[in-house]
Amino acid sequence: MEKPKIVILGGGYGGLVASRKLEKMLKNDEALVTLVNKHDYHYIATQLHRTGAGTAVDNKIIMNIPNLLKTNKVSFKKGTVEFIDKQKQEVLLENGDKLSYDYLLIALGFDVNTFGIPGIEEYALKIRSFRTTKAIYHHILNQFESYQSDKDPARLAFTVAGAGFTGIELVGELIEAIPALCKKYDIPVNLTRIINIEASENVLPGFDQEAIEFTTKYVKKHGVELMTSTRILEYNATDIKLDNGTSIPSKTLIWSGGVRGNKLLESLDFKLNRGRIEVDQYLRVVGTENIYCIGDSAYFPKSENSCLPPTAQVAIQQAEACAPNIVAALRGESQKEFEYHHKGTVASIGTTAAVGKVFGFRISGLFAAFMKQVIEARYLFVLGGPSLVLKQFSKTGKPYLQAASVQESK
Ligand code: FAD
Ligand code: NAD
Repeated sequence: MEKPKIVILGGGYGGLVASRKLEKMLKNDEALVTLVNKHDYHYIATQLHRTGAGTAVDNKIIMNIPNLLKTNKVSFKKGTVEFIDKQKQEVLLENGDKLSYDYLLIALGFDVNTFGIPGIEEYALKIRSFRTTKAIYHHILNQFESYQSDKDPARLAFTVAGAGFTGIELVGELIEAIPALCKKYDIPVNLTRIINIEASENVLPGFDQEAIEFTTKYVKKHGVELMTSTRILEYNATDIKLDNGTSIPSKTLIWSGGVRGNKLLESLDFKLNRGRIEVDQYLRVVGTENIYCIGDSAYFPKSENSCLPPTAQVAIQQAEACAPNIVAALRGESQKEFEYHHKGTVASIGTTAAVGKVFGFRISGLFAAFMKQVIEARYLFVLGGPSLVLKQFSKTGKPYLQAASVQESK
């Protein structure tokens, strides 16, 4: 009899943790599992802001996927998913290859939400993948280089849109990166600007008041021009138009105004809610029996009008619950309802400060920055045990101004 085929789309947090879990659960020859990902590396999406600012070494952010898979129970296929044919139970890849499945797990992650604001799609830089984020770093270097010849002050105005978690984490890194770049290019720091524009009244909207105050004070103390209650209306690559009638000359606008499900999902015939695929309590795509969806691509209802947030924490917990459900389905056993347990949230503001709430305790400053490292280490532990933690933490390299190791692209 032919072995059932399980295909996993996306080698991010959700897809990789699910693959590792299947490796542990499946008996030899019980199923054929294939993990498909656009690139042959996994990137630590929660550290991408550091890639954007050049404060991280590439080999700490990206890891080779085949090396992360420990057994021959899961095979890796590099490819870009283009379509899912539900009738034929096939996945079509950009290069024309087809993969048939009996069980499908969609874990294709997020896309940046630009809300149709004119010029953002075309001209703003985006933290969407390792490559797009690496492109931010190259763009910043380019501004420093070009300033030396044209002395255009808009080149030294580095603007971050949104002061949610991504925006604040990026601003924290820029606070450290910009002075280092000034030194390298022999440009006085006081000629540079870091501008952070947020539509809500506060940074980190909806988060703890203490964290909001700590963060506001910290970024302002480090010279960031924080503009809250200010909405970006338009961008044309040189000027940012604001809702207060003014505009800011800036050749760098990094958009961290929010995320949505992967845009590819729109072309697939699934029930979407706010750009994400609706799933039931077993993480199965609504209206299907053998297709599952987790992470940022999934809309898992929390209440009538809200869903679980797009976080790595959710993606990991869903992966750990979804893999056993797939195994149960192929063995004809009953599946378990997914329950999310929120452990806490920590946002870094550079390498030496952070704010957060962990198991109900508010933390800030250096201790919080340490906790952030612990959380990152825990993820590596889930993926590859203590050896992966040691391997990743012992890697070294030059974080600033390192040679480009990956080509810029979309
Ligand atoms: P992803 O991790 O995005 O993985 C999706 C994968 O699918 C990627 O490998 C991608 O290359 C691949 N893919 C996409 N399209 C295709 C295609 N067509 N074909 C093939 N492959 C494809 N969350 C937290 O909980 N804590 C944090 O501290 C935190 N920090 C963050 C910091 C930043 C800067 C950002 C941007 C996000 C942060 N998040 C954090 C959110 C977290 O990164 C996401 O929620 C998490 O990555 C979602 O996991 P996922 O598996 O759903 O998707
Ligand atoms: P977000 O939606 O949390 O924040 C986007 C911010 O941009 C909002 O504060 C919004 O008011 C602002 N904004 C939107 N449009 C604007 C405009 N036109 N002008 C000015 N400001 C505008 O998105 P995010 O920060 O990218 O986070 C995405 C997800 O990833 C969230 O679920 C978040 O919790 C998670 N995340 C978590 C961490 C962490 O836990 N440390 C870090 C990064 C991201």
